[in-house]
Formats: sequence, structure tokens, C-alpha cells
Amino acid sequence: MLQTRNGKRTGAAMVKIAVDLLAQGKIDEKTALKRIDANKLDELLHPVFETSAIKAATVLAKGLPASPGAATGQVVFFADEAAKYPEAVLVRVETSPEDLEGMHIAKGILTARGGMTSHAAVVARGMGKCCVSGAGAVKINYKTRVMTIDGKEFHEGDWISLNGSTGEVYDGKVGTMDPDMSGDFGKVMDWATKSTRMKVRTNADSPDDAKVARDFGAQGIGLCRTEHMFFEGERIKAMREMILATDEVERRKALDKLLPYQREDFEGILEAMAGYGVTIRLLDPPLHEFVPHEEANQKIMADEMGISVEKVKALVEDLHEFNPMLGHRGCRLGITYPEITEMQARAIIEAAVNLTKKGVDARPEIMVPLVGTVAEFKNQAAIIRSVAEKVFAEKGARCDYQVGTMIEIPRAALTADHIAAEADFFSFGTNDLTQMTLGYSRDDAGKFLPDYLNRGILKQDPFQVLDQNGVGLLVEIGVTRGRSAKPDLKMGICGEHGGEPSSVMFCDSVGMDYVSCSPYRVPIARVAAAQANLK
Ligand code: PEP
Ligand code: MG
Repeated sequence: MLQTRNGKRTGAAMVKIAVDLLAQGKIDEKTALKRIDANKLDELLHPVFETSAIKAATVLAKGLPASPGAATGQVVFFADEAAKYPEAVLVRVETSPEDLEGMHIAKGILTARGGMTSHAAVVARGMGKCCVSGAGAVKINYKTRVMTIDGKEFHEGDWISLNGSTGEVYDGKVGTMDPDMSGDFGKVMDWATKSTRMKVRTNADSPDDAKVARDFGAQGIGLCRTEHMFFEGERIKAMREMILATDEVERRKALDKLLPYQREDFEGILEAMAGYGVTIRLLDPPLHEFVPHEEANQKIMADEMGISVEKVKALVEDLHEFNPMLGHRGCRLGITYPEITEMQARAIIEAAVNLTKKGVDARPEIMVPLVGTVAEFKNQAAIIRSVAEKVFAEKGARCDYQVGTMIEIPRAALTADHIAAEADFFSFGTNDLTQMTLGYSRDDAGKFLPDYLNRGILKQDPFQVLDQNGVGLLVEIGVTRGRSAKPDLKMGICGEHGGEPSSVMFCDSVGMDYVSCSPYRVPIARVAAAQANLK
């Protein structure tokens, strides 16, 4: 034999070959499982391009493979116009929580800016929707509604196609095929269940996402980002009233309006994940994300709230920060405005008590974001625990709950023993931990990361694949020091790395209890977790 080469095969072929070889007795189950390339399972879960159509297609640009799958559609530039076309591709410089509804409607999302943990990437992955982010060659003019790529103009309504698994952007309409999830897929999942040590949870913000993930085998929610719950209908109005409030009394009035919405959301999610832990994170993003930045939307907000556009503009200006990712966000918000933490804690505990009374096994885990010092955690945990006791007294009933924290600031990892003494669990937020350890802005790294990768300065995008030597070392220190103070402290990861196979294997090696990832990555994480255990 002079030479061998690995045969190229599709994800479906990979699964069929493993299942057939096992059925023929040529390999055992563990070997069959080891032969699965977890990343390739994506092809079984998302649409792909028709083979002949993609061969004839022209690549226009390349961005980041932010959320897998193939999409073809007509260009729209504004999220609230996505419904104009039955198949739309939303094209934005970057997305923000305001764009959520349009992102839901669109077949795919293309952004000019932003990395693998940008808003567009994280949200699209949660929705299981194709997304290419950080395509630097894409220039967008919102005023003229024109996108230019290498001198070629695209107007609203023009067709483009995206491959969210490779980051390629294609000219025109390229036919797609729906995924074909055969019974063999279920067999692979069964093998994974038998061989795994680590649990796989999901990052989900709605009962629907929770159900999708549960069907894929998720055992709990590792991250429920509550900020997405503030955007629908009346909620955003109340949220903006809260932000506009000039004193605590006004703020509490607005928060009282938000409480029932939050409680209802939490009841839905806790019920969808009954019997499993549900980690609910308190408000995390900077408040400027909740106010409109485009003039037309500022006018709408002013009309809705009965205030002048100037007042809205002044508010937006006031909330401006030079570096919002390092600014007034996370637990810093809850410390400045304890009434926000109180409202959210009340909504969670009331929801859990209501469900417990109905016989539902609700298991809330309240998570404090962006903790850097134990004093921050103690401050927020004291508020949460005191609200819980109040609710128990009012309702004459109790429920089980836990209070823990994200470990996403390097200092938190380094002082994990102090924090562990106070916390019921840790969840490693490796998106922010990567940002802060490497000093790369998660939203702006797209400008230089491609150069770093091309020149070999970095081997992989650290927002995609955990930087095990640097960020991973902090994670390891966090786990070890945390467990030195509390040996049975529950540990998991909820950054985007929780669905990336090599990072999942790393999490297993440092002894985490679970990884958490977006619903459509749950099968990938389950296979990777099982393979890690077999190693
Ligand atoms: C993280 O930082 O890893 C995380 C999960 O939180 P977010 O992405 O919402 O900042
Ligand atoms: Mg974070």
C-alpha cells in the first residue's frame, strides 16, 4: 500500500456507515461512536444547498460561519421589513435585540461586523437559523438601501444565499434542501447516552426553544438570558419606562409592570424543563441595548411614551458608553438598581412556587452575571435570598432554588475559592472570559481576527474554539479553586464553546458537570461529551 486518503463523505453517510458497520458486527458500539465527527452532525440538522445548484454558484464574500445551515432569500435591510418577502435574508451591519422579530422571520442573517459571539451569531444559533457574521467585504448603506460587495451593488429584494456552516455568501438564488434526519441519527444519540459522564444542557430563553432542546436530549437549561424577554409588545415599553425613570419610586412602578410578564415566561420555561435544573441569569446587557438608535425608531418611541424626540435622544446619549462591554452591565446594574434584581428574583421564585403547588418539579437556579469580586456576589445573593423568603411567607409555600454565578471575568476565576464559599454553582461564561482574557472585543475582533488566522498568529478563532492554554487555564483554576472551597460545587459552561466538540472535551477533562449550548448544538455536544468520556 503506497498511500491512503480519507474518503470524503457527507454527515448522513458518516452516520450510515457507522450504523451499518456496527450492524454487520465489524465494529463495536464504542468504536462506531468514536467514528462520528460531531461537527458533521450539523448537516443532519439544518438545510443544505442542492449539490448541483451550489456547484454553479458564485461566491461573493466570506464571513464567519456564525450559525450553520444554508439559506437563500431576498435582501432586506431592516428587521421590521423582513416579512415583506416570504424568503428574506436580513442584512445588517450588526444586529441588536431590537431586531429579534425580524431575525425570526428571515431565512438567514448576514452581518458586516461582529464575531462568533456577537448578538447575531448567538441569537441565530439559538434559533437554529443560518447566519454569516463579520463579512467585512459587505458595505451597507441603510439610507439608500444598497449593499455593495467588491463593487457589485445589491438592492432590497435582490437574491443572495448564505452558507452558515462555511461563512460563504453567494450571488443569487441557490436552491436548498431540508435536512433528512433518519432513524440512524437516533441510534447515534442512544450510543452517546450510554457512554457519557457529563450532562448536556441548553441555552434557551423561551419554552419553545426549551422543548426543541429537550427533544434533542438536553437535560436542563444552562443559560436563560432574560434580556430577550423584554422586547415583545408592551414589555419594551415598560422596560423603557424603567430606564427613563429618574427615581426609585418611578423605577419600581415600571418594574411592577414587567413582573407578571417575567413570571409567566419563567413558568413556561420551568415547566418545559420540569425535573431538570433551569439556570436563569439576571439582566446582563448594558441598558443602551433597550433604546432605539435609529432616528425613525426614536420617533416611534417618543410617540408611544408621550415624550419629545429630544428627550429620547438625550437618553440615548446619556446611556452611551465608550466601552459598553466593560461598562454598566451585569451585576453592576443590579447593584446600582437593586430593585431590578428584586423584581427578577420575585418573578422566578413566584413562578417556581406556583408550579410546585401544581405538582410540577420546578428547579430554578438564579445566576448573577459578570461577578468579579465575592462582595458583588454577596450583595446580589442577599437580595435574592431575602426576596425568596418574602415570597415564601406571602404564599405560605416554599420551593427549592439555588443561587450561583457566572465565572466570566478573569478575577472571578482567580478568586473562585472565595466566591465558591458563597455560591451554589458556577457557570463559566467563556464568551466574556475570552474577550477579557485576550483583550479582544467580541464585537470588533472581526476586523483583525481573519489576519491573525491567515498569518498563523492564531490557529483558531478563540470565540469559536476555546483557547485551552490561556482561557482554559483560567477555567481550570476556577474549577480547582472553586472545588477546593466546596468539593461538590456544580460546575458548567454556558459560553458558545459549550457546543464546540474540542472545547466540550476540555470541559470533561477539567471535571465539569455539564456543558450548555444552543438547542441545535445539543446533539453535537452529546456526542462530543460521550467521546470525551471514552477517551
Ligand atoms: C458568556 O459571556 O460566555 C455568556 C454566556 O454570556 P453572554 O454571551 O450573554 O455575555
Ligand atoms: Mg457574558
